[in-house]
Amino acid sequence: MYLIVMNITDFKTDVKLAPYTSIGVGGPADYFYEAKTADELKDAVLTAKEKNIPYIIFGGGTNVLVSDDGFRGLVIVARNNNYEINGENIDAGAGIVLGVLLGVSVKAGLQGLEWSAGLPGSLGGAIYGNAGTFGKSIGQFIEEVTVLEPSGDIRKYTPDECGFRYRQSNFQNMPGTVIISAKLKLQQGNVERLKEEIKKNALWRAQNHPPYKSCGCVFRNATFTKEARLPQDENEPVAWFDKVPAGWLIDQAGLKGKKLGGFTVSDVHGNFLINDGTGTAEQLEQLISEIKKDIKDKFNLDLEEEVRRVG
Ligand SMILES: Cc1cc2nc3c(=O)[nH]c(=O)nc-3n(C[C@H](O)[C@H](O)[C@H](O)COP(=O)(O)OP(=O)(O)OC[C@H]3O[C@@H](n4cnc5c(N)ncnc54)[C@H](O)[C@@H]3O)c2cc1C
Repeated sequence: MYLIVMNITDFKTDVKLAPYTSIGVGGPADYFYEAKTADELKDAVLTAKEKNIPYIIFGGGTNVLVSDDGFRGLVIVARNNNYEINGENIDAGAGIVLGVLLGVSVKAGLQGLEWSAGLPGSLGGAIYGNAGTFGKSIGQFIEEVTVLEPSGDIRKYTPDECGFRYRQSNFQNMPGTVIISAKLKLQQGNVERLKEEIKKNALWRAQNHPPYKSCGCVFRNATFTKEARLPQDENEPVAWFDKVPAGWLIDQAGLKGKKLGGFTVSDVHGNFLINDGTGTAEQLEQLISEIKKDIKDKFNLDLEEEVRRVG
């Protein structure tokens, strides 16, 4: 049996969440805890369960939209950033920053994660939403995910059980489940070539993503249907397989530069909503629903949020 060594008094109280998110909005959490090890992560979750306190895990807070009222429960920030390299495998804690994981993998001469150069957030957050770019995503490199189940049991998930698909995993439909760590499978590579690739990808990101407060892409790319009314623009990819890029739709709808309160639809990338530092979650929600309505009215396509709501 696993012994819990933590108490509710180990949690901070009434902590404003905005500073723990990249978009900088969100009210307070009743309870707040930063778990530096897997044991602390487990203990915090089990303590919350024992006291019947709702809980949620944050990684880097780069894909969450916290309400202005905050979260009535415990926010646990996963900071368990241990890692171990065994041949072509890396075992890493969910709280490791993805950029750090990329750095250690390249140092060990392992290739696979170069696409993630500049992608913010933690390994756990990336697994939860199957983060990716340049046609690659984290799920392709996962051999096993160790999870704390709502029952309190620890279980290892195979990639199939994780259900990785475009910006989604089965963990999104498993409330209370906590990603503790993962085993990644990479390949031997040439360090100099890996560094070149990373430099190229980081440069692309710097040129195509606005460097301001945001949660990255707010919307998933839209699923193409034959009822869609798409504009004809020969210079742009209209549908990638069955997906239509959300940023492109927002651009075509003339929404770049649109402002609402402290938020602006980025001129650089239409799927980024930028907070000038004064924005509230309520304003962001309003802007999101206006964009969705415009895209539906103009193109008969439904946009769905990629960002996760908290509170
Ligand atoms: C500038 C910018 C650029 C971005 N570019 C990209 C991109 O190119 N591709 C892309 O896919 N995304 C991108 N994103 C979005 C974001 O960075 C990714 O989705 C990232 O993987 C989220 O990780 P995180 O640790 O910040 O998760 P968080 O925002 O902390 O959490 C996101 C969700 O995951 C859950 N979660 C986090 N950790 C755990 C855990 N250990 N166990 C259980 N649940 C957990 C949270 O509860 C929440 O529901 C970008 C964001 C920004 C700000």
